[in-house]
Amino acid sequence: MKNVQYLIIGAGISGLTFANYCEGKYLIIEKENEVGGYCRTIRRNGYVWDYSGHFFHFKTDEFKNKFINEMPKDEIIYNEKCTKILYKGKFINFPFQTNIHQLAKQEFIDCLYDLFNKEEKEKYDNFLDMLYGKFGKSIVEKFLRPYNEKLYAIDLTKLDVDAMGRFFPYADKEAIIKNMKNSQINSYNANFLYPKNGAESFIKILYDNLEKENILLNTTVEKIDINNKIVTLSNGEKIKYIYLINTMPLNKLLQMIKNHDELLEEMSYNKVLVFNLGFDKKSPLCTKEHWLYIPSKKCNYYRCGFYDNILNSDKLSMYVEIGYPKNAIITQEIINEQLKLTLYNLKKSGIITKDMKLVDYAPIVMDPAYVHINTETNKKIYCLKTELSKQNIYTIGRYGAWTYNSMEDSMVAAKELAQKLGGETL
Ligand SMILES: Cc1cc2nc3c(=O)[nH]c(=O)nc-3n(C[C@H](O)[C@H](O)[C@H](O)COP(=O)(O)OP(=O)(O)OC[C@H]3O[C@@H](n4cnc5c(N)ncnc54)[C@H](O)[C@@H]3O)c2cc1C
Repeated sequence: MKNVQYLIIGAGISGLTFANYCEGKYLIIEKENEVGGYCRTIRRNGYVWDYSGHFFHFKTDEFKNKFINEMPKDEIIYNEKCTKILYKGKFINFPFQTNIHQLAKQEFIDCLYDLFNKEEKEKYDNFLDMLYGKFGKSIVEKFLRPYNEKLYAIDLTKLDVDAMGRFFPYADKEAIIKNMKNSQINSYNANFLYPKNGAESFIKILYDNLEKENILLNTTVEKIDINNKIVTLSNGEKIKYIYLINTMPLNKLLQMIKNHDELLEEMSYNKVLVFNLGFDKKSPLCTKEHWLYIPSKKCNYYRCGFYDNILNSDKLSMYVEIGYPKNAIITQEIINEQLKLTLYNLKKSGIITKDMKLVDYAPIVMDPAYVHINTETNKKIYCLKTELSKQNIYTIGRYGAWTYNSMEDSMVAAKELAQKLGGETL
């Protein structure tokens, strides 16, 4: 039987980063026939599509420099974010709560009035309760509630107050009023950089540093024997490990190690159906926007984005995202229906016109996509991770750790773990 120090499940950005920083013998097992996980890129017919828009908003210089120093300068595009909300047929700036002055007069008055008459609390019960308490009825009901319901595909009272962490654009009354004259609100993603050949270019840098014989593609981890520290692969091979580094979704890991049915039932998340769409002409409406937020429940997608405006290309190349609850089964029939509906809604809003031809498209189901953060479940997951670590199992990455974070956050965590384990004496 083969022995390895680190058996890594998954060759997404987390697994590849861990392998880049660990000392000792590692083996990555990846079920797909290529590396990258959700950070893969499809290049077809002149279109460059990620698995939905995947943009790097670096907080640290380390990974930013790691990538940009190893890529030809002209392959990276730097953008100052241009995002809008499509609200009742008009564009208003994102975030909604700080741009209510761009609404029609009566709607603006409603939002402002409710903002000054909201009932703030010391402590909120859940995400929806927090939204009403901090922003007032009109801002919540015009944007925050419908948009987040479409995205998370769940009753927002089931989400934690801090469900979106640093990704939620908070703003108090003073900031909202100041922003009416002077746009000053900074967000975590005010600037972003993007490689011309898609997010996968960064994955390639991580992959190129590794020994290819230590990466098994087209191979699934099917069984884990925790007591004997042995995994069984889809090709029947058994491998003994010292440390198991998991990056597959935590719910899938729990199904494999068994006896966690109650927690599995409790763990909540959404799925996202993404359509990457390539047309023969530019959009007459969206000529500079990078992505749009769409709160209206009459429209099937909650967000859409424009690769052609990011890459400065001459044909509309875009993605749309549609949220589903965790138990939804997204069949081919549903995909076909949603494609029709998407094209209808794109036309209705003027993003495409009837003389524009859809040249190519690629649907992708992201399952899971957004983990629903809940304090009680999180406590149980924390205890579980502590127990697993006593058995040399570490579960990392956005889905392995069961959290809401960015690609860079996952890289930082993977590197830290590799360094921590490297310092341990066996
Ligand atoms: C709609 C959407 C948009 C996003 N946009 C951004 C963005 O703009 N910026 C950003 O920073 N982040 C974004 N993210 C988050 C980003 O996708 C993740 O943080 C990141 O890709 C997670 O990487 P990972 O390696 O942890 O997991 P994954 O990419 O999921 O990798 C896990 C790997 O494990 C493999 N695997 C699973 N089961 C097995 C098995 N049994 N055996 C072997 N292999 C297995 C999978 O095939 C996969 O390759 C977005 C996410 C979504 C859903």
